[in-house]
Amino acid sequence: MWRLITYTEQYTPITPYKSTYAIGIVEDENGNRLVVRIDSKYFGRLRTGMVGSVYEEWSIFGSFKKFVPEGVEEPAKVALVTGSARGIGAAIALELAKAGYTVVVSDLTYDESAEKTLQEIKAAGGSAIFVAIDVSSRESVERAVKEVAEKLGRIDVLVNSAEITRDAYLQRMSAEDWDAVIKVNLTGASNCAKAVAPYMIRQGGGVIVNISSIVGMVGNVGQTNYAASKAGLIGLTYSLAKELAPYGIRVVAIAPGFVRTRMTLAVPKSILRDYLRRIPIARLIEPTEVAKLVKHVVENEAINGVVIPIDLGLTISSPKA
Ligand code: NAD
Repeated sequence: MWRLITYTEQYTPITPYKSTYAIGIVEDENGNRLVVRIDSKYFGRLRTGMVGSVYEEWSIFGSFKKFVPEGVEEPAKVALVTGSARGIGAAIALELAKAGYTVVVSDLTYDESAEKTLQEIKAAGGSAIFVAIDVSSRESVERAVKEVAEKLGRIDVLVNSAEITRDAYLQRMSAEDWDAVIKVNLTGASNCAKAVAPYMIRQGGGVIVNISSIVGMVGNVGQTNYAASKAGLIGLTYSLAKELAPYGIRVVAIAPGFVRTRMTLAVPKSILRDYLRRIPIARLIEPTEVAKLVKHVVENEAINGVVIPIDLGLTISSPKA
């Protein structure tokens, strides 16, 4: 049995030593002392005097002694899902709540859909609050993220799902419609990531999931603004994953094909049928299927800096057709 005598939390942003962990000194009952490394997941919960075990662990810089404190309760993790009053965002909020996360359902305003999502989470035995956020406004995002941190104490997961569409051929698209889509879908995601990152860094880690789209990979007629915003999210994901990895924060994009939502069902039937004919498995994806993938990404610590399509094989069909 080893007792923690002293420790310090470390952030080392310099290549090749990039890492986030605590260094401590522990002592056993005979007065033997060891210098140990402690996982960043214990940040904010380490106390001198706490007891635990020491293990030998391997790293690329050689083996080291790792201290694992005993009896440290895992705090309820918090997931913030933007644009989650309805649609895919709501399904993600419900899935994460079922997985034990305290969920922040957030959208422009608290309406019937937001109320319904909160009720569904409560009925499933989950825990959730609503916080209004306009992702396109930096002030709104910063205020709301501060509110979440004050109310729930931490932010472990951010899912950027808020979106708008303003479809038109580029020749006929107004400058306002171009700007509006980029501002919500792309700048909005960057605003939210920027606001939550300091909290995740202090906690020793987190996960950011950007909901991109297959349209950002293969394009779509009448959706230059939307496709550009979704392709932009992919670049944001790759770059931010590199920037935040030293702090234990993973950043991943998901690129769904056509999901059964208001947006998809509003597409004229003949056009939808034409789209579906080109997909190897010719059906719509269910919002719950996207939500399950998000949950997997959040829980699987090996997934980082990638775009994961969930598209029934759409990308292997003829994208330019
Ligand atoms: P949706 O339009 O049903 O929901 C989007 C939500 O975002 C709405 O509740 C809306 O109020 C909210 N929102 C809009 N502007 C906002 C702002 N400024 N601040 C905060 N919230 C705002 O969308 P959906 O179909 O459920 O899609 C969810 C995500 O999945 C989006 O990012 C979308 O691009 C992506 N996606 C959807 C499909 C699809 O087939 N539906 C396919 C691929 C990707």
